[in-house]
Amino acid sequence: MYNPLSPHACEFIDNGEVLESLEEASRESTNPQRVKAILEKGALRKGLTHREAAILLECKDPRLEERMYSLAREIKMHFYGNRIVLFAPLYLSNYCINGCVYCPYHAKNRTIPRKKLSQQEIEEEVRALIRSGHKRLALEAGEDPRNNPLDYILESIKTIYSVREGGNSIRRVNVNIAATDVQSYRKLRAAGIGTYILFQETYDMQRYRLLHPTGPKSNYEWHTEAMDRAQEGGCDDVGIGVLFGLGGYRYELVSLLMHAEHLEARFGVGPHTISVPRICPADDIDTGDFPDALPDDIFRKLVAVLRIAVPYTGMIISTRESVRMREQLLDVGISQISGGSRTSVGGYTTAERHNETAQFDVADTRPLDEVVGWLLDNRHIPSFCTACYREGRTGDRFMSLCKSGKISLCCTPNALMTLKEYLMDYASGDTLTKGNALILECLHDIPEGRVRDLTVKRLSEIERGSRDFRF
Ligand code: SF4
Ligand code: SF4
Repeated sequence: MYNPLSPHACEFIDNGEVLESLEEASRESTNPQRVKAILEKGALRKGLTHREAAILLECKDPRLEERMYSLAREIKMHFYGNRIVLFAPLYLSNYCINGCVYCPYHAKNRTIPRKKLSQQEIEEEVRALIRSGHKRLALEAGEDPRNNPLDYILESIKTIYSVREGGNSIRRVNVNIAATDVQSYRKLRAAGIGTYILFQETYDMQRYRLLHPTGPKSNYEWHTEAMDRAQEGGCDDVGIGVLFGLGGYRYELVSLLMHAEHLEARFGVGPHTISVPRICPADDIDTGDFPDALPDDIFRKLVAVLRIAVPYTGMIISTRESVRMREQLLDVGISQISGGSRTSVGGYTTAERHNETAQFDVADTRPLDEVVGWLLDNRHIPSFCTACYREGRTGDRFMSLCKSGKISLCCTPNALMTLKEYLMDYASGDTLTKGNALILECLHDIPEGRVRDLTVKRLSEIERGSRDFRF
């Protein structure tokens, strides 16, 4: 029985409710009045229900689809302005006892070399990341209580935060590790993590069981209820996501939104971020085995519908996507991207390791400076901001600021100041010129005179060597 307030996965992601939503979508999506009414509701920027979002996704009227894309653009600009937050993944270990059939780190893959970074190696990787300009990391590790116990993760977080390189440091570590218990989430929170990220992979229980035949992750309920335990353990910024292509995309979109509604209903705060990776080739993995792999046009529409349905939630894509696809998705709602990424253990310091131990193929292989230059060319402000978490604006504090539309008053000046730091410390000549020009232009977009004046003052101070200002 569907119950968004229930702590049980089978009730907040109730299969019957998902199927009824899809049936309603197939009926109502050909009714232009209904679709228009949903778009009008979306324009109020307060979000949509999973049933309404399913109808939009199913609607194939080209004029209404165009309206979906333009509305998604408007909503993104309203809440976040034109800043795009940049981060990099840091793979600590590819030891894993799970059997996820779509991931080359699965326990039965004997061809991939296994590697776990020592604290010394983590320090070296972090130095390389700081030298490229990064301030925000997403820490990744397989599930293996013997090789990657929680204490190893906690020690690694401490190491990452302790590294200083050329006066700079990593300011925010988000963590993407296996579902765990409340006590462990408490320890992660105490270690100062930013967002706790865990992808559902697929919400379709039958597909889930087929694709996760062995290991602790094979327990659908344990995995799906992880964000509830994370919240109970004090991790109030959580990031959810689906690996699109594992199951039917309609089913996944509806369930993903039901998960967001559940977190909002039970904890008063929806997910901080939603990630939308798609299945892609990797060692030992053939995408031909996944008939639900998502075509580009549907993927773009799905991102736009999500943007309208959850206007306050950050949306993330990785370097799995090509430059062309990233441009299209940034346009319709993505607010955070990885850049200059290595999806392997030790890949930032050892190129050979990248080829040997990559979790998936990277389509966008450009170094960070090129990514920054490309964002500038497309009139996005590349942002290295980490301010909210460091100012204690997490969980419901962050959400209330976001819902009121006031967060962009922080996002734009913070983006400009962190971009300026990047330009001063790491940019190539061409990026420096383009970046300084965009900063001048975008200062006018700061509506409050006091904030604008203070930003101008701080930008000059950054030029003179000061660092780490934030609103
Ligand atoms: Fe392990 Fe994660 Fe890969 Fe599954 S997806 S095999 S849990 S690293
Ligand atoms: Fe993110 Fe907050 Fe910075 Fe905006 S001000 S970019 S929401 S950390």
